[in-house]
Amino acid sequence: MTSEDLRQLVYKWALKNAYDHGGSAQEKAVISKVIAERPELKTIIKELLNAVREVVGQVNTMSLDAITQTLSEVAPELMIDRRTDAKRRLPPLPNAVEGNVVTRLPPEPSGFMHIGHALSGLINYLYKEMYGGKVWLRFEDTDPRKVRPEYYDSYRDGYSWVGIRWDHEKNNSDDMELFYRNARRLVEGGKAYACTCGRDEMRRLRSDGIPCDHRSQPPEVNLELWDGMLEGRYSEGEVSLRLVGDMSSTNTTLRDPVIMRVVDAVHPLTGDRYRVWPTYDYAVSIEDAICGITHVLRTSEFMLRDELQNLIRRYLGMSNPTFVEYERFEFEGTPVSRREIRSLIERGLVSGWNDPRLATIASIRRRGILPQALKEFVERYVALTQSRKVYSWDLLYAINRRHVDDLASRMFFVKDPMKLKLDGIGELDVDLPLHPTRNLGNRRLRVTGEFYVPAEDLKTVGEGGRVRLKHLCNFTLKSVTDKLAEGVAELGPPEPGLKVIQWVPVNEAVEVQVLIPGRLFNPDGAFNEESLEIVNGIAERTVNSLEVGSHVQFERFGYCVKDSLPKTFILSHR
Ligand SMILES: [Zn+2]
Repeated sequence: MTSEDLRQLVYKWALKNAYDHGGSAQEKAVISKVIAERPELKTIIKELLNAVREVVGQVNTMSLDAITQTLSEVAPELMIDRRTDAKRRLPPLPNAVEGNVVTRLPPEPSGFMHIGHALSGLINYLYKEMYGGKVWLRFEDTDPRKVRPEYYDSYRDGYSWVGIRWDHEKNNSDDMELFYRNARRLVEGGKAYACTCGRDEMRRLRSDGIPCDHRSQPPEVNLELWDGMLEGRYSEGEVSLRLVGDMSSTNTTLRDPVIMRVVDAVHPLTGDRYRVWPTYDYAVSIEDAICGITHVLRTSEFMLRDELQNLIRRYLGMSNPTFVEYERFEFEGTPVSRREIRSLIERGLVSGWNDPRLATIASIRRRGILPQALKEFVERYVALTQSRKVYSWDLLYAINRRHVDDLASRMFFVKDPMKLKLDGIGELDVDLPLHPTRNLGNRRLRVTGEFYVPAEDLKTVGEGGRVRLKHLCNFTLKSVTDKLAEGVAELGPPEPGLKVIQWVPVNEAVEVQVLIPGRLFNPDGAFNEESLEIVNGIAERTVNSLEVGSHVQFERFGYCVKDSLPKTFILSHR
């Protein structure tokens, strides 16, 4: 072994040891790694000790960034982290029978799907997978005023993207005749009545817990009015069907809620065929029963309604599911309510429903959140509790980063570029790996001696200083001005202690912009005027071959996603 080979071997292990320990290598640890790899070196222990002392000294002057960059060049295989796959499963489900758990995804198609729906959907899906059974996709679309056709597909696409395969699909609006039949049964059984109180009157009486006179009118009158509703004799608000609940209950949802009402609006699926529509609780109670739902897993804002829905089913002789409630998913600084998002769009503060700062599925896909990261987030971190919990994007991003790292191609990107001319390099083609540890193939760059490099990296290196262009060469800086640096290159392996920089050959350069989405709201609730930063820079031409949605790591900058906007990338995370 030549002394240069020995130095390279020591260098590799010194970098690895420093990489594992925050930038600081230990001589002893390096010696034992070197000897483990080449036991015959014990015979020249003195020479080895000298090399280790010298190389570790140099490595310990390097920044952690330079150490990482160099290690990824000389021994990328040593960077594969030992991942702990201590997978936590979701907590057991009460009353679950193996092979017979039926859950549901119950979106209301009145807005675009967002991250909360995805996480909730995953909980329902993962439980069905865990025990075996079925999961329904059921559109709760019985409010014709709110429902829009494009939103159905938003959920179908979103659930598919997140990896959910549902066993059955239906719309509540398919079952109007069923809702009518059961409403008649309730009226005939004295469990529902037709009320002609005005809206304000009804609200006042419900709030005071006082029944109106219609509650005690004879069933024939109720049936007459109900038939009149179906025949179109009444306009909106004139008559509604109310459940006989408990007017004195502290749970106000039980105070004789409306279950059927006239709505004069065209439904996107059924057109103007129906004018009498079920309310949410009434439709859901019946649907959960006839779909055979065994477990209703949902966010706790629905909790007061469980009692009402169980009452409706009891009146109809239907069985009740087990309810598991958890707090809704909130992410710091990010609105998920449709009203709030719509207002941001109308005020021009965000560009649309897929603005990369939002939490709709279209937005989070645009900024590179992967479905496997959402799944891991649910399995490992979601607490099915009813105490309010605001999740941090950082946690989700940290999970996402590990998944993205495997599939992101590495490419050079230079922010705030300056030109560098190097002598001693000539024209050559270099093949560079697209990934340091996975076999994603190479890309080829033609080098001519003129490069763009980050200005800030050369500023601190004076004339005569030495630097490495990653994967290419070391060079000595001869002169540097604001616009241009010149130097002399020596091709060869990395040298201990050298700063490592990114580069783009001038003839391979394309201009790109990177959008950096931040939090829309500051902790004090005010809109963050700096929530979208734009960074311009130069990237290697290879980026043009990336498809929209591809992940790329601009080394020393961050993980980005190729966007559908021209020449644009969106930063996922650093
Ligand atoms: Zn009344």
